[in-house]
Amino acid sequence: MEPTLDNVQILRPSYIASVEPLERTGSVNVEDIKADLSADFSLVSSSSDRSQRSSLESKGHIEVCLRIRPFTSLERENEFQGCISLEDSRSVILKPPKNSLSRLSEKTSGQMMQKFTFSRVFGPETTQEEFFEGTMKQPVQDFLNGCNRLIFTYGVTNAGKTYTFQGTEDDAGTLPRAMDLLFKSIQGKLYTTMDIKPHRCRDYVKLTKDQVREETSIKNSILELTKEVDHQNSSNNKAPIDSEDVEELLDLEQSSTTLKDYTKFSVWVSFFEIYNECFYDLLLPMSNDKKRKTLRLAQDIKGCSYVKDLQWVQISDSKEAFRLLKLGLKHQSIASTKLNATSSRSHSIFTVKVLKIEDSGTPRVTRVNELSMCDLAGSERYTKTRNEGDRLKESGNINNSLLILGKCINALKNCQQSKLQQHIPFRESKLTHFLQGFFRGKGKVYMVVNVSQCASAYDETLNVLKFSAVAQKVLVMDTSVLPQDQSFGQKAAKESLRSHTKMPRKRATILWDRSLEDVIEDDEMEEQHYTSGEAAVQKHEENKVLIGEEKYMMLLNLIEELKNRLITEKKNKLLLELKVREEVTQEFAKYFAEQERDFKVRLSQEREQLEENSERRLEIFKELVNGYNKNADEENKLKDQPCSEQAGPLDKEYSIRSGTHIGFEGIIDSLHNDVTDLRKQAEEAHKYLVSLGVPQEAIGWLEEQLGKLTIELTKTKEELAKKTKDLEMQMAKLGESAEQLKEATEKMNTQNKRIQELMDIVEQKDEQLKEEHIVSPEDTIYEGGDHGRIKFFIRNCFNNRLNILRVYWRVDTLSPVRHPDRER
Ligand code: ADP
Ligand code: MG
Repeated sequence: MEPTLDNVQILRPSYIASVEPLERTGSVNVEDIKADLSADFSLVSSSSDRSQRSSLESKGHIEVCLRIRPFTSLERENEFQGCISLEDSRSVILKPPKNSLSRLSEKTSGQMMQKFTFSRVFGPETTQEEFFEGTMKQPVQDFLNGCNRLIFTYGVTNAGKTYTFQGTEDDAGTLPRAMDLLFKSIQGKLYTTMDIKPHRCRDYVKLTKDQVREETSIKNSILELTKEVDHQNSSNNKAPIDSEDVEELLDLEQSSTTLKDYTKFSVWVSFFEIYNECFYDLLLPMSNDKKRKTLRLAQDIKGCSYVKDLQWVQISDSKEAFRLLKLGLKHQSIASTKLNATSSRSHSIFTVKVLKIEDSGTPRVTRVNELSMCDLAGSERYTKTRNEGDRLKESGNINNSLLILGKCINALKNCQQSKLQQHIPFRESKLTHFLQGFFRGKGKVYMVVNVSQCASAYDETLNVLKFSAVAQKVLVMDTSVLPQDQSFGQKAAKESLRSHTKMPRKRATILWDRSLEDVIEDDEMEEQHYTSGEAAVQKHEENKVLIGEEKYMMLLNLIEELKNRLITEKKNKLLLELKVREEVTQEFAKYFAEQERDFKVRLSQEREQLEENSERRLEIFKELVNGYNKNADEENKLKDQPCSEQAGPLDKEYSIRSGTHIGFEGIIDSLHNDVTDLRKQAEEAHKYLVSLGVPQEAIGWLEEQLGKLTIELTKTKEELAKKTKDLEMQMAKLGESAEQLKEATEKMNTQNKRIQELMDIVEQKDEQLKEEHIVSPEDTIYEGGDHGRIKFFIRNCFNNRLNILRVYWRVDTLSPVRHPDRER
């Protein structure tokens, strides 16, 4: 069945993680959702959680191991500060050196030491062989068993990535060792004919005889190029693999297949680099004058990226692989010097593809899988320019693609830890775009972190370790793990059915070798196909499936039903989206309306406040102006100066202005007028002072006058004092006489009482006499004896009393102070 265009569109992958879920063969274990990352950045005090670590590995997380580079003798002298120390075989403790940026930025000293845990840690004394045994053996075994594997190195420049990846002439790195192990494992089972070639991502093509010839000549020419390199290095190429190991691997292979006699392996390699966001084939011959041909990245239907037009070379032993590696490295170094790049580094990717072929008469490919080994460029912060004494710490310490790789790893981790889907920026760099397939489940990912112990590289090392801690949390589903005894076609059918249509299990037995052909590319369709007509027919024959009509109809119905379900699901999704969008819009509209209201209120309040303030200012100003006018008027009146005439019009001016809005210009004008008035007044005052003559003379005259007046005043004061004294004396005398008078009055009163008594007695006697002799009183006084004398005495007393009263009256008129007794 050929796929319809609709199907293709539906299955076409998107780079938005939410649209295209990961291909999963098993259930996803999300135990570590909301996992606390603090364990990765834990302090020394917090113990490592081994059980958690081992469970992480079993779940298919990115496996990260650490290799610490030994010091060079020069470094040991200058850089040794014990920054990195091994705690056990899985964790290291990082201690900042003196003058470290991170030491300065840490708030507490307790946070200075940090512990990082890995799948395994390899100390500085680790040999290449030990490292390979500890890390690479497993992925190479998995690769031979049909899984896809990606191994990449990560670290700052000069941390030992290339050393780990390639090794030296004397001590081979992981790549040559892996190739050695591979060929030793498939010894005697090599498929040497070049008629089947890997194509696109996990595809293959059958070549015609002409194409085989062409392919052979290309290989020969490439190997010709490597001859020189090979000649130099062949004697040194030692990558010994234990015969025990090989047997172990072979056992694995044999036990997993029952058709061991017919099983063959065709091994193909490619080597390319990503330099300045361009792909370059490192196996192609280079001409000095021609510009290097850039390759493009394409994508197959499953979203697996592959480099289009990349040169794949079939190899028959590990030596050939090593020769190709050397050739590629030579091209890489030539290119970097030719291009005169400041950063003469690039990411180099060496890929091995193995086609498992059942060769019983007509060869049949049952599996295509790959092992990618990437030597990533390191950050450039710690430059190798120490010879010149230059140890600049560049600010942009991680180059763009590494930064994007970090972003992708972070986004992947976030996606897995929360339900929120996040865009993973795979397409932002060529490296991540290429690696995208692995992060989406193409196969297990291994990361080799290289660090140096140098104190000067501490900050970068810390960043690298932090990044690797995050990377360890990323779950990568390995969909390449499949039973061995199934044919490739069966496997592909299972995968596509399970992942895309969710068909019942029993249908998985139908041969549907679609994934090998249904490949679309990002770019325009390929101009030429390797597959000849003959090969295509052959292939078509192979893929023919015979099923009953009833089953066929059932399948058709099922497809129809699934289509309808998909459409309704899509509809529902769109409706939901619409609803959510509407709700959000409404909420926002509400929010904006509220904001508008708030702003309006605030605006009016501010306007009122401003108006009030300006009114108050105006009032104050008016008061000031009025006060000034009044003062000026008064002064003018007092001094009777001619300027008073000018006050009139000014007053008028202000009176006109008062109660109305005064413009600032008017105010300024009036102020000008005021100033001129003041000047005039000052001039007048000056004139007046001048008219007074010489001021010192006037002062002298005034002082003289003052002296005279003072003398007069003292004289008057003296006189006043004298008069006051006289008056006081008179007053004292008057007081004395008043006392005397008082005494006299008292005496008088007593005398009066006696007189009265005597008078009463006399009158009684008179009455008695009258009764005896009736005579006139005067006669009796003068003529008669004692009786007449008494009468005369009384009369005198009476007269005395009258005289005293007269004296009183006179004193009263004389004295200004009234005596209390005289009041009575
Ligand atoms: P990178 O690729 O990370 O920039 P290299 O692999 O070029 O770093 O290593 C820098 C230097 O350190 C090289 O001279 C290399 O030989 C040396 N080196 C790295 N790792 C080791 C090691 N484990 N043992 C001995 N020398 C090493
Ligand atoms: Mg390197």
